[in-house]
Amino acid sequence: MVASARYHGPMQPRGDTEAVVLDSLPYADRHLLISVLTAESGVVRGVARSVRGGKTPAAAAAQVLSLIRLEIFQGAHAELATFRRLELIESSYPLAAELELFAAASAVSELLLTFCPPNEPAERAFRLGRMVLAGLLGGVRPEVAVAYTAQWTLALAGLLPPLDICASCGTEIEPPVATRPSDGHPVCPRCRPADHRRLERADLGFLALARRRSLTEVGDTLPVGVGAWLDQVVHAVAERRLPALDFFRIHGAGRG
Ligand SMILES: [Zn+2]
Repeated sequence: MVASARYHGPMQPRGDTEAVVLDSLPYADRHLLISVLTAESGVVRGVARSVRGGKTPAAAAAQVLSLIRLEIFQGAHAELATFRRLELIESSYPLAAELELFAAASAVSELLLTFCPPNEPAERAFRLGRMVLAGLLGGVRPEVAVAYTAQWTLALAGLLPPLDICASCGTEIEPPVATRPSDGHPVCPRCRPADHRRLERADLGFLALARRRSLTEVGDTLPVGVGAWLDQVVHAVAERRLPALDFFRIHGAGRG
């Protein structure tokens, strides 16, 4: 019944939780429309009321990639939650002072928002977001942080192609690995198109290390082929544009 489907029901408190802010937009007069990533419920979109205008603590907490604590209320059928009592745990504000870091924080948030599930548990994705915020604040190179996030968000969503099997014929592949430009999937010497690209041993080494280690343990240097390959895969599977990632490639350390 349409009538019951539109009935939003009583506001169910989901309780006090930690979240990483992924997106924040002005809404109506003094409200913010915010997307957050939580361990318990994945991506949740909601409205924080009467927080704009002036330097309210809640407005400061809504900075992209900040780690916050908040109360989430949501009706059974409501598309949007209501967010209350936003408090900062770890602010991303220091990253805003430098264009490269600001662009990286935006690209990381966008990747999480694009590939994390709405309204279902996302413990590992939440820990990833928290780790990347801490890493960027602690001096991890921005291009390393963005590549690490891209690889893990794709992997957690089941969208990262295995690199040892030809995507066309299924034979095993030895490094270096040729990839097809359409979607970044690996192809064997017999199947590869003339305009294929290559993941060198150093690229494959970084990708393998990133799967096993934390962000601060993968080193300061991003091998040259990794960012471009991850972008290929991201753009092939994303169902929308990724303007923050594009901005990072143009203006951030990821250019080239
Ligand atoms: Zn093949």
